[in-house]
Amino acid sequence: MKIGKYSLGIGDRFGHQGEAQLRSIVRAAAAGVEIVPVWNKSNREHSYIHSIPDDTRIEADAAVKALSFSGDYFVDADHINLSNVKGFIAASDFFTLDVASKIGTASTDEQISAFILSCKNYSGVLNIPGIDHPFEVSDQLLGTITRKFLAAIAEAGKIYNFIKEQKGADNFVTEVSMDEVESPQTPVEMFFILKMISAQGIPVQTIAPKFTGRFNKGVDYVGDVIQFSREFEEDVLVIDYAVKEFGLPENLKLSVHSGSDKFSIYPAIGRIIKKYDKGIHVKTAGTTWLEEVIGLALAGGEALELAKQIYKSALDRQEELCAPYADVIDIKQNELPSALEVDQWGSEKFANTLRHIPGHPDYNPNFRQLIHVGYKIAAENGLKYTGLLEKHRDLVGSCVEENLFDRHLKRLFNF
Ligand SMILES: [Zn+2]
Repeated sequence: MKIGKYSLGIGDRFGHQGEAQLRSIVRAAAAGVEIVPVWNKSNREHSYIHSIPDDTRIEADAAVKALSFSGDYFVDADHINLSNVKGFIAASDFFTLDVASKIGTASTDEQISAFILSCKNYSGVLNIPGIDHPFEVSDQLLGTITRKFLAAIAEAGKIYNFIKEQKGADNFVTEVSMDEVESPQTPVEMFFILKMISAQGIPVQTIAPKFTGRFNKGVDYVGDVIQFSREFEEDVLVIDYAVKEFGLPENLKLSVHSGSDKFSIYPAIGRIIKKYDKGIHVKTAGTTWLEEVIGLALAGGEALELAKQIYKSALDRQEELCAPYADVIDIKQNELPSALEVDQWGSEKFANTLRHIPGHPDYNPNFRQLIHVGYKIAAENGLKYTGLLEKHRDLVGSCVEENLFDRHLKRLFNF
């Protein structure tokens, strides 16, 4: 099973916006860019929402049927590991093997020396075609990279083999992710990681490194865009070379776990993949849930009240809600509006504060990040929340569609 050149991870926490999401993909196709939709949902999201992977499959199939969509589409078991992959086997045909937590765990001395020995062609001066500066690969560097990543990739091999036994090798797409870590992987680390992946026999089609800069949830990129562009370009070239050297799948591409809305780096990503005629996978999952809250706010009445309630509860329960996301949010306490303040707001003020329009005078990234991690509260509202989503289906759906098409796809693909 092979994934197309451009693909978009469109997780949908509550599973109600599949059609609206797919409409944005259909509009992109009409504008000349074919994008493969991938509905991704992690174990953590499922456990908060009390949904199961089969629900994601049902949603994806229903959206595809409703719009008579004839392209490929996938259901991604996002950030899975050996302990939780089992529940995703039947419903998923895309698996994101998350081995970030195994980075730095020990391999045996024999395994380490064997890998280093297998790299002897690349030690010394390493030239990657297209990159104008050579990399210096000392024995020490090679040792450090091997000790850091070999066990993690061995773990990816175990997860891959488990899925392969259950599903058959040709029935799923494999991604390897190590984005949820502190320090970014350098292009030269990526090169040797890909060698390890090849040695494990994993037919990886997308790889998600940790890029330089901060990828906070639901808000724009924080970091040096020029440095990001340089590293991203080098990663693209490293992958191109590694595919040829290590016999990895030809369509192997980068996967950017954006945490949603990395608007300022989208043009650079778009430009570089165009320059080298490469593919890309972008996961932008949480955005959809925020558009639901925006849609509810715009609907007014009890829907606006619920949107406010979600914020006010999130404000009370910040510590609990933010803890699992501590590394990927930056909320300035003194810039969060008080419950009393928000109580005075009308639909437009609430929506404009939450909606990600950089430069809009009402937009508040702190407010946005807090609601982003507050989906547990919406889940606790159960049928009250989903009932209002249904009641205001068209309005909410148009927010979801507009967001993906106008704010994400237009920026990425420059149309
Ligand atoms: Zn990720």
